[in-house]
Amino acid sequence: MMQRTATLIVLAILLAGCGQPPASGTAITNVTVIDAVNGVRENQTVVFDGDEITAVQSSAADIAAAATIDGTGKFLIPGLWDFHVHLTYDDRFTDSMPALFLSYGITSVRDTGGLMRKVLPVVEKMRAAGAVAPRVFFAGPLLDGNFVVYDGESRPEIGVRNATPDDARATIRGLSAQGVDFIKIYEMVSPAVFDAMVETAQEHGLPIDSHVPLSLRASMAGPSVDSMEHLRNIEMDCAGNAPELHETRLELLKNPDGLSGADLRSSLHSLQRLPAIADYDEARCDRVLDTLTSTTQVPTLRLGALNLAPPWLKDDWQDALSRIRADAREDWTDASAALAENPSDEFTAFGEWAMFLIGRMHERGVPIGAGTDTPIFLAVPGYSLHSELELLVRAGLSPLEALRSATVRPAEYFSLQDEMGTIDVGKKADLVLLDANPLENIANTRNIAAVVSKGRFYSHDDLSDLIAAAHGRGK
Ligand SMILES: [Zn+2]
Repeated sequence: MMQRTATLIVLAILLAGCGQPPASGTAITNVTVIDAVNGVRENQTVVFDGDEITAVQSSAADIAAAATIDGTGKFLIPGLWDFHVHLTYDDRFTDSMPALFLSYGITSVRDTGGLMRKVLPVVEKMRAAGAVAPRVFFAGPLLDGNFVVYDGESRPEIGVRNATPDDARATIRGLSAQGVDFIKIYEMVSPAVFDAMVETAQEHGLPIDSHVPLSLRASMAGPSVDSMEHLRNIEMDCAGNAPELHETRLELLKNPDGLSGADLRSSLHSLQRLPAIADYDEARCDRVLDTLTSTTQVPTLRLGALNLAPPWLKDDWQDALSRIRADAREDWTDASAALAENPSDEFTAFGEWAMFLIGRMHERGVPIGAGTDTPIFLAVPGYSLHSELELLVRAGLSPLEALRSATVRPAEYFSLQDEMGTIDVGKKADLVLLDANPLENIANTRNIAAVVSKGRFYSHDDLSDLIAAAHGRGK
C-alpha cells in the first residue's frame, strides 16, 4: 500500500503543470467531517501533509494535493484513543497490539500500568521513526502501598511497593527521570503515601491517574487527581453509611490476618461493594460527584458491565477473535462459555451500578474518558474500544459525546488539545474514515474504510495486511 500511495504521489507530481510548485499532501474529498468540537461539517476536503492537517475546507473550492482519496458518502472522525490499555500485561498480545489498534482506528493509547523493564522497550519500539503503531503515553508500574496487589504472586507483577512517603517520592522521581508521561496510583496506598505521590507528581508536571485508594474515599482522593479508573470504590462513598464503611476499612487495612495485597483488597471489596450499592444515598452521591467535575472518569464499562453486553453475542465477535493469537483465542472461547453458563450475580449487579453511575456522572458534568483495560478479560485490542463507545451511549452519552471521550478528552488530559482531538488545520494527522455515520448509530465506528496514523494512510486492505503480518509474528 505504501507503494500504491507512493505511485499516486509520483504521478501527481509528474502531472503538475510546469512552473507551479508541485502539490504535496493527500486530500480526502467530499467527506462529512465529524468531531466533538466542530460538530458536523459536510462536503469537506481535508488535506494532510506528513503528520499535519494542512487544510479543511469546502470541497467546492479547488485545492491542490499530490494524492486524492474520494470520501463521497463517507465520514471522517479524529483518530480514536483507548485511554486504558496494558501493553505488557499478557505477553501473547504485546507484539500484535499496535497493529490491532490501528486496524480498529485507535491511533493513540494510554498504558496504565506495566513494569518499566517491560514497557520501556515496547514504548521505544512504538515511538521509533516509521513504526506502524499508535502514539503511546505510559505510566510505568502501578504505584501501590505497603501491600501490593499486582505483586507477581497470584497476579502478574505490574505493581511496586511504596511503604512510606519517602519511598513514594523516590519512586516518582525515578519514573520521571525515565520519561513516564503520567503516574498511576493504586488501591493500597495510605493517605500519607497518597499525598506524597500527588505532591511529587505535581512537582514533576505529571498528570495523575488513580484508583480510589481503599484508605480514602472518592470525594477525598478525586479532586487531587486527573483521572480515575473503573468507577471502583466510588460506590463506598455513595452509600448512606460511607463514613462507617471508611472507618471499618481503615481498621482492616492494618491487615491483622497477614493477607497478601491481592487477598486483602478482594476481602474489602467483597465486604463493602454490594452492601454499599444497596445502600445508595442519592443526595450524598451527588455531593461526591460534584467533587469530581475536574477528574476524568474512565469507567471501562466493557469490563465492568460485561455481563450486560456479552462480547460473544456480537455478530463480529468471531471476526475479532480471529485477529488474536490461537492460544489466547482458545482460552477466551473457553472463558466466554464458562461465563455464559454461569453468570455471576455480583458481577451483574456491579455492571448495572456502573451503567447507572455513568449516567448520573454525565448529567452532573463529570468528564468521561473511553478506555478498555485491554487485553484483560476478553478485550480484543482495538475492537473493545468500540464496545466501550456503545456502552457509553447506552449509559446516556450522545454519540458525539462518546466520540469526545475517545478524542478530545484524552488530548486534554495530556494538555495536547492544541495538537490532537479534532479535525482542524495544524492538528496531527490521525484520522478514521468511516463508511457509515457514527452519529446515527455509534456502532458505525466499526465500519472503517481507512485509517490515517501519524500522517500515513492505511486503506482497508492495508489494515487487513497489518493484522495478517501481526499474526505471522505472534504465532
Ligand atoms: Zn488496568
